[in-house]
Amino acid sequence: MHLTGQNFIGFERAAGGTYTFFAVNPSNNQTLETAFFEATEKEIDRAAEKAETAFVQYRKKSGKERAVFLEAIAEEILALGDALIERCHLETALPIARLQGERSRTVGQLRLFAALLQDGSWVNAKIDTPLPDRQPLPRPDIRQMQIPLGTVGVFGASNFPLAFSVAGGDTVSALAAGCTVIVKAHPAHPGTSEMVAQAILEAAKKTQQPDGVFSMLHGVSNNVGLSIVQHHFVKAIGFTGSYQGGRAIFDEANRRLDPIPVYAEMGSTNPIFILPEAMAQQKNQLAEGLKNSVTMGVGQFCTNPGLTIAIEGSDTAQFMALAQAQFETTSAATMLTPVIQQRYENSIETLIQEKQVDCLARGNEATTINQGIARLLKTDANTFSQNPNLEKEVFGPSTLLVIASDKEELLDTARYLEGHLTATVHGTTNDLEEFSELISILQRKVGRLLINGFPTGVEVCHAMVHGGPFPATTDARMTSVGTAAITRFTRPICFQNFPDFLLPDELKEANPLGIWRLVDGVLQKSQV
Ligand code: NAP
Repeated sequence: MHLTGQNFIGFERAAGGTYTFFAVNPSNNQTLETAFFEATEKEIDRAAEKAETAFVQYRKKSGKERAVFLEAIAEEILALGDALIERCHLETALPIARLQGERSRTVGQLRLFAALLQDGSWVNAKIDTPLPDRQPLPRPDIRQMQIPLGTVGVFGASNFPLAFSVAGGDTVSALAAGCTVIVKAHPAHPGTSEMVAQAILEAAKKTQQPDGVFSMLHGVSNNVGLSIVQHHFVKAIGFTGSYQGGRAIFDEANRRLDPIPVYAEMGSTNPIFILPEAMAQQKNQLAEGLKNSVTMGVGQFCTNPGLTIAIEGSDTAQFMALAQAQFETTSAATMLTPVIQQRYENSIETLIQEKQVDCLARGNEATTINQGIARLLKTDANTFSQNPNLEKEVFGPSTLLVIASDKEELLDTARYLEGHLTATVHGTTNDLEEFSELISILQRKVGRLLINGFPTGVEVCHAMVHGGPFPATTDARMTSVGTAAITRFTRPICFQNFPDFLLPDELKEANPLGIWRLVDGVLQKSQV
């Protein structure tokens, strides 16, 4: 596909700005072909106006019609073939096999949401039938369901150029909910973004969606993103990225005269706790599993386990020696951007030089530019609890071992933690019985708790929670992965004493869509 570098304002293309930028291949720092045009204020405004106009029509489409749109997007992405994977590889240095897997995940996610819409029950319909004879006052007919919020602004992260980007979870869940979408393309993969945007717009045309149902704008300066957040036609934000970016957007949204919800999924350090009996019995597997999880994708995962907590003793000492050997033989690999690589190295240096953290192991040296070198770091629980900065995400292939002197100190370390996406506990049945308090503490800290596994790898399914208390996200009640993500871009509405013909199909007496509804407190599919 020929790239144009233009912005997509619905079905129109625009390149009215004077500022352009290029993608850079992180493997060799070479500029890739095609100049991308940063969107102008006028273009942002036009995209928002079109999105608002389109919303009026798009929100009336049935779930089945929206499902057809999502299925068509999946087909169009697949039709891009190897060209998409090749451009994405050039822009991110992520391995081809990894990108093929990510494309499957992106397509699978679109189809999962299409199936959700085909079923239709996600609207959470509730009907309380009237009680005309109730004393002292009769009860009216009251019906509730979820409806879409309006236009959603979407910001993708650099580390998932397909699954958390232009056609990623935020866009898909917003379109599924009946919202129109404006994506701010990530400047680290603008060519990939253009190709996927083109696929979405092809699908929109083929399935007769309104012009403006989807737009995508380029920008390197934060102004483009912030203008989207400030625009009065934009009614919610889906963000995936760093704490700094998410916080800036959240604050901006709250400064509006009419603040809007920001669902920001940000960085996290995903603590792993290794309990004593598991440590004694499985130190080899644990050392290898930890190294694999920390260094997978050069550590560029939001679920990367950046903290590993254990109790001191001879088993832990042996585990450290095994982990040290594992990390020392890990090859360095190219990171997503020169800035991300530089930030990683600087963060590690700051931890070692200024925060009294020991470097237990350093992986193989870099063989070329922009490579991240694996690190195994160590501190004690007392130092950790006195320095909040040690809990912050270091985006790259490192983990900090935190050694507690005893059970109580390990539990205190858990109590001290802030919000994370995940926490993991490795333990035998005896361990888990003895440390049941740990599980109870961790439930208040994270969105997903794992036993005897590793947190990297997030399943896209109905029961997934990819979220967690601040600062992992700005709204711990939500998830950005899995079908429950749709709720973020909806709100409940209640219809009181409506005649049947005026009600949406989801709430009509006869239940023409055949969906599950809570009628007078009983879940059923039958008519009222
Ligand atoms: P990033 O730098 O925060 O960028 C994400 C997006 O936010 C970009 O479009 C960026 O645009 C925009 N942005 C950043 N700061 C901004 C600001 N101050 N004002 C307006 N817009 C701003 O994140 P990244 O480096 O691409 O991604 C890596 C991070 O994402 C890691 O921390 C990782 O853990 C996290 N992540 C989280 C999840 C999750 O689900 N929780 C998933 C994947 C990744 P500009 O580039 O134009 O600034």
